[in-house]
Amino acid sequence: MRTAAIVPAAGRGSRFGSSDNKVWADLCGRPVLEWSVSAIAAHPAILGVVLVAAAGDRARAEALAARVPRVLTVVTGGATRAESVQAGLRALPDTTDIVLVHDGARPLVSRATISHVLEGVIEHGAAVPGLPVADTVKRVSGDGVVVENVSREGLWSVQTPQGALRELLERAYSEAFEADAPPTDEAGLLERSGVPVHVVLGDPDNVKITVPEDLERAAAALRQRGSANDGSRACRTGFGYDAHRLEEGRELWLGGVRIEHDRGLVGHSDADVVLHAVCDALLGAVAGGDIGVLFPDSDPRNRGRRSSEFVVEAAARAREAGWSVSNIDVTLVAEEPRIGPYRLAMREAIAAAVGVDTDKVSVKATTNEGMGCVGRGEGLACWAVAALVPRIEHTAVADTERSETEWT
Ligand code: MG
Repeated sequence: MRTAAIVPAAGRGSRFGSSDNKVWADLCGRPVLEWSVSAIAAHPAILGVVLVAAAGDRARAEALAARVPRVLTVVTGGATRAESVQAGLRALPDTTDIVLVHDGARPLVSRATISHVLEGVIEHGAAVPGLPVADTVKRVSGDGVVVENVSREGLWSVQTPQGALRELLERAYSEAFEADAPPTDEAGLLERSGVPVHVVLGDPDNVKITVPEDLERAAAALRQRGSANDGSRACRTGFGYDAHRLEEGRELWLGGVRIEHDRGLVGHSDADVVLHAVCDALLGAVAGGDIGVLFPDSDPRNRGRRSSEFVVEAAARAREAGWSVSNIDVTLVAEEPRIGPYRLAMREAIAAAVGVDTDKVSVKATTNEGMGCVGRGEGLACWAVAALVPRIEHTAVADTERSETEWT
């Protein structure tokens, strides 16, 4: 059985309070839609995904499709969900046996939920994931007064992906359009066309992003999964370099630690050359610009600032982009002072600013053997590298898990 998915994402999402479609809202560094499409495409049974986008979203939908494996094509949707799914159905490869339709606004669908739906389709012909309604349900009048209690018995809330044998779904859609009554979901339409739809167990995390607060909840859930990082996405590294002059009458700050010395580094901020190199390493790892772009010395607000604030901000940007710091390694080049006595304090201060344990931060030092400007004691230089790993579970699976890897 060859399975394809359709992801309709051409709607407007009026409850989201933004003129832009909610599926394009940022969620941990990627659009909501990219999470939804990736999750579906990563299931080993899914051979291809048809993405349905609004005409005005065509360019960014195609850019998204280029980033996610197994997106077969992007098609333009219609005014209603039903029209969009129909457009998706027309774009399916001829050999498709099973179709799953998944909301573009459900970024957290799990592999288990997709598997349950597929098993349901194979056994019964049509299946949707759902959860028994847990809350007490009441019917409420237009002016906010309870009219009656509704029995929860037999009530389920239904999610996506909704799945069916292709021929059943196509027939249901064509009948619905003949009847001129487009349905709001696939299950409703299949039922009307006489196809029993089986409910399989969904997942409470498989929420639909409807209001802005849903994004916060989804981000928290993704971060939670980060602890189960499966290493399927490569790590990233960033490199930082900085140098500052030494002058009398300045305090010397290195790695966030005040160092006793007769001279200090010259700069707009506290001129902490170690933290500046660390900051650039973090920003470099996420292609986030550099310290001069983020904290320009032309901005008076940056005058005299503690450089640890810059590192805190750079680390936050890395986290927001979906990465956590695996380790940081620093090499300071200085003829003097000796930093041995300060090494542990520097590691602790850097680790605190980055938000990691001290054992993830290394500080080394060397002299320049008297060569060059650093060797003559005119200033200090520092190199740093940062390694980052995904902080979020990625559902990509190895192609070896797939029985078939492409349409034939
Ligand atoms: Mg600097």
